[in-house]
Amino acid sequence: MSSACTSIKMTDKDGDLSFINKEATQWRDIPSKPIEYASKEETIFLSGGLTLLQDKLVEAALNSMDIHFIALPNPDFKSFQTGKAFGNRGQCNPTYFTVGNLVKYLQNLRDEKGLSAEEIVKKYVYITAGGCGPCRFGMYITEYKKALRDAGFEGFRLTSFEHDKGIFQGDEIKEDILDFSPTFFITLIKAIIIGDIINLLGYKMRPYEIEKGATDKALESCKEIVSKAFLSHSSLIKAMWKCRNLLSQVKLDRLQPKAKVMVMGEFWAAMTEGDGNYNLHRFLEAEGAECIPQPIINRLMLSLWEAEQALHKKEQLEVKDAKKIDFSNVKTRLLIKAGKAAVKTHFTLYAKAIGLHDYDIPDIEQLAKFAKVYYTLECSGGEGHLEVAHLIESVKHNLAHLVISIKPFGCMPSSAVSDGVQSLVTSRYPQANFLSIETSGEGAANFYSRVQMALFKAKQSAKEEFEALEMPEHIPQKINNYLYQPKSDMAGTAAALIKSLKN
Ligand code: SF4
Repeated sequence: MSSACTSIKMTDKDGDLSFINKEATQWRDIPSKPIEYASKEETIFLSGGLTLLQDKLVEAALNSMDIHFIALPNPDFKSFQTGKAFGNRGQCNPTYFTVGNLVKYLQNLRDEKGLSAEEIVKKYVYITAGGCGPCRFGMYITEYKKALRDAGFEGFRLTSFEHDKGIFQGDEIKEDILDFSPTFFITLIKAIIIGDIINLLGYKMRPYEIEKGATDKALESCKEIVSKAFLSHSSLIKAMWKCRNLLSQVKLDRLQPKAKVMVMGEFWAAMTEGDGNYNLHRFLEAEGAECIPQPIINRLMLSLWEAEQALHKKEQLEVKDAKKIDFSNVKTRLLIKAGKAAVKTHFTLYAKAIGLHDYDIPDIEQLAKFAKVYYTLECSGGEGHLEVAHLIESVKHNLAHLVISIKPFGCMPSSAVSDGVQSLVTSRYPQANFLSIETSGEGAANFYSRVQMALFKAKQSAKEEFEALEMPEHIPQKINNYLYQPKSDMAGTAAALIKSLKN
């Protein structure tokens, strides 16, 4: 032992080694004093962190089931700083932003709205996503608890969906305060799917709007219409038809050759719309690009695919000594099938009603085939093989002029694994214009400058692609109607529209 090591002393036990022969007991992170929590009826649920639209639709959807739910405001830099102040070191950005956002909200309830910390702890519950990792995702719940305790909210209740284990109601939660019934999940998924569809249309339209702000104004009205439909239990399909009429009134000029940029990467960094990714989507649009966002449905389909793979492996292991059918496997398989069918059916119905015609739900099996030459499919952390697959797909199908893979600083699955693999992919597909970029919560100038450099090349490609086409003598009006969405082998929207007129 070096002299440096011998100088290290145990701090907590002060040299007391009596614990060595004691039987190990389970450690639990429970409040130091017992707390009398509010009843199920008086409990208020909090959550957030999806896109702005989806957070609000989820709020309306859950309120429609008499669940008192409030969507937190979008996480901003103040949330990040609060997360850093109360969190452990070495966490990733989504943790700091989301944990900090919750603490900031509770501090506001205490300091501005006058509720006592005890009252807040008794009445409020936070719903989040959890999991076992393999990255720092596995530590999210512990992080929330640590930050909440240090901020003066010891005993605050958390409940989480664990995509690989189901639902964890929380150690301190004695009764089932939320009824995680099939209706609950279906209503939640409807809100997420509708949010995805409206967001996808917004990203298609905003770069081409003639009157600045017209698309956002129409989207805001769509949010109100769909929220009201949830709350009044009226037809969501009819609500989407109403949105279609509103969107049709937005005047577009779609013959501008804009660079199309696929934004993918770590789930939260690629999806959030705010300081968490330096407002990447809006920055790209301001720089003259059109974004292809990653809808949440992609992550949902990946989770279902992963569940199916896990089941398949389990069955293969069991088959050797199998004497009878394991009905729990049959039930799981049926549930996965039903989940897939429900997502696809609802997506198709709502997309048709509002007029999103050219978006196909990702075929994860096909994407796995693209990726498996490069990426071990069993590595299921973060977005698994999806990042690698998206880049290959974008080159093979000419989907974008630039692919940006965004991830929080030091993200294990995305920076350390996927980006390592992407170097091989880009060497095999040299035509790919690929940028991998990290967000640290600080240093926006460096971030923007790297994006601008990659975008310069993408803009050139978009211009060349458009100018190589012969312009028809007559341009029909349908070109500028968002409902006209021809499928094409051209990456740019303007080029795809012109080419469609020749077919
Ligand atoms: S995927 Fe990346 S950002 Fe997300 S929890 Fe894991 S390490 Fe952190």
